[in-house]
Amino acid sequence: MPRLILMGPPGSGKGTQGEILADSWQVPKIAPGDIFRSEIKQGTELGLKVKSFSDSGRLVPDEVVIEVIAARLKQPDTQVGWILDGFPRTVAQAEALDVLLAELNQPYDSVINLDVSEQFLIDRLKARAIDQGRADDTEEVIKNRLEEYNAKTRPLLEFYGENVTQVDGTPSMPEVTETIRKFFA
Ligand code: AMP
Repeated sequence: MPRLILMGPPGSGKGTQGEILADSWQVPKIAPGDIFRSEIKQGTELGLKVKSFSDSGRLVPDEVVIEVIAARLKQPDTQVGWILDGFPRTVAQAEALDVLLAELNQPYDSVINLDVSEQFLIDRLKARAIDQGRADDTEEVIKNRLEEYNAKTRPLLEFYGENVTQVDGTPSMPEVTETIRKFFA
């Protein structure tokens, strides 16, 4: 019953890895970015609320994200485990998650950080913009997303301290998957 917090800067491959692992373990992948994209597409109230943040590469306010993730983690399909991809992204979110997981009696098993250099990220994000046509992969937005990461998300590595397992995110996709899998063997 894996309960994994998958961390890493935008473009580190965490979305892809999260999807592969969630499929193979048959657990839900919970990613605020996916939830927001779907809500924006459907034009819901939540979608409207988060669109300007997401489009500009800025983080959505903590209270909005925390509410969405709390509601998601309370759904019954999370009983088999979960992969959190892209949450938490701030210390306030991590603190809220600690409280929530204690309440749900679902402690996390591990925190994995996909480690990659900034230039690698920029190259990969630009390539993804061409492949997937994501609205938030333009040069200006990429810059904002990396700035947000450095200012607000990187400090989480300190928050989780020795609970973080660093995984080199630069090898091929299957190699990174294998490395992560080994921690759960
Ligand atoms: P992602 O798909 O994880 O790159 O997320 C896309 C966008 O959704 C981000 O650039 C943010 O605007 C928003 N977002 C995703 N996760 C979070 C989070 N944990 N906190 C705040 N905003 C988030």
